[in-house]
Amino acid sequence: MGYLDKKTLEDVNVNHMKVLVRCDLNVPLKDGQITDTKRVEASLATINYLIKNNAKVILMSHLGRPKGEFNLKYSLKPVRDLLEKILKTNVKLSKDVIGPDTENLVNNMNDGDVVILENLRFHKEEEANDKEFAKKLASFGDIFVNDAFGTAHRAHASTFGITEYIPSVCGTLVKKEIETIGGALENPKRPFVAILGGAKVSDKIGIIKNLINKVDTLIVGGGMAYTFFKAQGHKIGTSICEDDKLELAKELLQKAKDQKVKFLLPVDTVVSNDFKNDSDFKTVKVGESPDDYMGMDIGPETIKIFSQEIKTAGTIIWNGPMGVFEFENFANGTYKIAEAVANSDAISIIGGGDSAAAVNQLGFSNKMTHISTGGGATLTYLEGLELPGIAGLDNKN
Ligand code: AMP
Repeated sequence: MGYLDKKTLEDVNVNHMKVLVRCDLNVPLKDGQITDTKRVEASLATINYLIKNNAKVILMSHLGRPKGEFNLKYSLKPVRDLLEKILKTNVKLSKDVIGPDTENLVNNMNDGDVVILENLRFHKEEEANDKEFAKKLASFGDIFVNDAFGTAHRAHASTFGITEYIPSVCGTLVKKEIETIGGALENPKRPFVAILGGAKVSDKIGIIKNLINKVDTLIVGGGMAYTFFKAQGHKIGTSICEDDKLELAKELLQKAKDQKVKFLLPVDTVVSNDFKNDSDFKTVKVGESPDDYMGMDIGPETIKIFSQEIKTAGTIIWNGPMGVFEFENFANGTYKIAEAVANSDAISIIGGGDSAAAVNQLGFSNKMTHISTGGGATLTYLEGLELPGIAGLDNKN
């Protein structure tokens, strides 16, 4: 389910067309001001393409959780203001979503104009994937473009329902997600190495189960590793562990062995007597943690082994930090692995959420092939499950 056969913007003629674009303009706000403009910037490639190609551009997005009611606290006005500044053109914001104001604005557009509909989630019909609501949205455009990868795992009216009524293709951002993540899942340059970390095994079970059938090497670090260590009979002190997942951990280790997938776990870890930065900490071999210490990071020997594997990879997918990287004293493992991935010649894909934050924070973002813009959507993609927001788009043939 790589979605490599989905139509893209280049497959349709947008000249003079009304193009409805579902963006992810769900920006963080503080006192009405946007505190991080990344999502707006990420949407510009598609918007600029459409303006340049003489389309009438109608943008749609949700913002926050207005719970299906009009609430101007969640208005897209700050996004409109920012877009006007960046695009250096007038951007009209509709006063309603599917009402007469939108209708009027959309009916009076010229080629190259940009209109943005008010917050889709002012209507509860949006998240309910209501047919009539989706049909009404579709009536404003000739073509639908989904460029909101972050909500692609949800079947909402503006991401899924709408695709039933007008030709539907993916935007620039979604195309890049499909080409890199879908490309790796369907046809990876080998060796294919997946690096998984983060706090819990339970969050990553689906990913491990799917990737174990595709990768050559599975590297597991972070808090997740301690459930595997305990399953192998090692002492883990007070490290984070999911006791109800010990059997599963054993099964996964066995499955990797049966499928001849290299399963690398840390060989040494940095342990600490408290879950805080200025605690007492030391490096120990796996299984040699004092009873009252917890694992907080991977150790230097592990960094060496993991980095060596990364160096020879053809494709790398990384999801989840190697340790408690938010604390400076335990960020080294994540930093060194990020550095190794950044320096490798492999296609490097960083899967959303915390891993993307870590790579950005550590200053390696422009050395990666792709940093996914999704959190939940990326996880769903890596789990091999359907992404309705992409599945509904038209196929190339
Ligand atoms: P996730 O959202 O599952 O990718 O998990 C990310 C979180 O895992 C981060 O907040 C890390 O601090 C945390 N984490 C990583 N390693 C450990 C560890 N050894 N013990 C506890 N938490 C960890």
